[in-house]
Amino acid sequence: MAAMTDFDLTGKRIWVAGHRGMVGSAIVRRLHQEPCEILSVSHSDLDLRRQAAVEEWTAKQRPDAVIVAAATVGGIHANASRPADFISDNLAIEQNIINAAYQNGVSKLLFLGSSCIYPRLAPQPIDEESLLTGPLEPTNEWYAIAKIVGIKLCQAYRRQHGCRFVSAMPTNLYGPEDNFDLTGGHVLPSLLAKIHRAKVEGGKTVEIWGTGTPRREFLHVDDLADAVVFLLRHYEDDLPINVGTGVDVTILEVAEAIAQVVGFEGSFVFDSSKPDGTPRKLLNVSRLSALGWQSKIPLLDGLRQTYRWYLDRLSGPGVRGGQAH
Ligand code: GDP
Repeated sequence: MAAMTDFDLTGKRIWVAGHRGMVGSAIVRRLHQEPCEILSVSHSDLDLRRQAAVEEWTAKQRPDAVIVAAATVGGIHANASRPADFISDNLAIEQNIINAAYQNGVSKLLFLGSSCIYPRLAPQPIDEESLLTGPLEPTNEWYAIAKIVGIKLCQAYRRQHGCRFVSAMPTNLYGPEDNFDLTGGHVLPSLLAKIHRAKVEGGKTVEIWGTGTPRREFLHVDDLADAVVFLLRHYEDDLPINVGTGVDVTILEVAEAIAQVVGFEGSFVFDSSKPDGTPRKLLNVSRLSALGWQSKIPLLDGLRQTYRWYLDRLSGPGVRGGQAH
């Protein structure tokens, strides 16, 4: 079991890499409740894929702690159609930030991965120990391999240099600032956008990719942000730690929950030309629960809050459809 060694956030300069993305922006909102200083830098001022630039920025800013929430991310289609971006961008971002953190004596670093690092057919719910025990899901192996390297980098710097670098593996996330793009996004925001459009346009059916039977676990990003701050303070172990709700639903069930929130009364049809991906991806969160953290936002509440945000954004400056966080 993980050791509880507190890292005090008081007065610390904490760099949230990837602060414009869904995850990074939620972490920044959460860190505003803590007595720390938040560092961030926009993509136009620092391209995290450029090693020299990352080293220079880190040396100048001297963060005490770093949260690696920067990544090139996307749903099942984006992963399969842009494999080079997914592997290459993510490897560069992780390597540059983690090495710069070591060179500049950063006291604590938390690297964020994803539940897709685990083998496609890992026993469910998935334990942290199942990492590298079997083949990955082919639709997202590019991203998964890059994220596995991030975990290994943290472990290597811990072993060789005694760095307090840890990794957390969140399950499927959703919430404000997600990518609601119909082809590039993850399932929940894409379905939310499709179902909303059908309701507004009086459509009778909405298309679900694949069979609707795969099971996924959905965590609201504000819950993740709370867990990240908790782990930055308390987690100190070689193994990555899973972050999830402990509950999963089928893709059809999540579509029905979104329909309820949006007020869509039509039906669903299935596009069997699209892949299902991993049949099930439920994390075992018992190590995190034993440390004293639990998810607090039930799926329906999280969906209502996300839909309100989406509607506000539609009537405002526009919803993001980009890919790099
Ligand atoms: P994954 O969890 O890494 O597999 O990625 P996604 O968040 O993209 O979820 C994929 C699951 O949702 C697969 O089973 C897809 O077939 C299914 N799905 C159903 N409709 C959609 C959709 O409109 N967009 C996406 N991305 N996935 C969908």
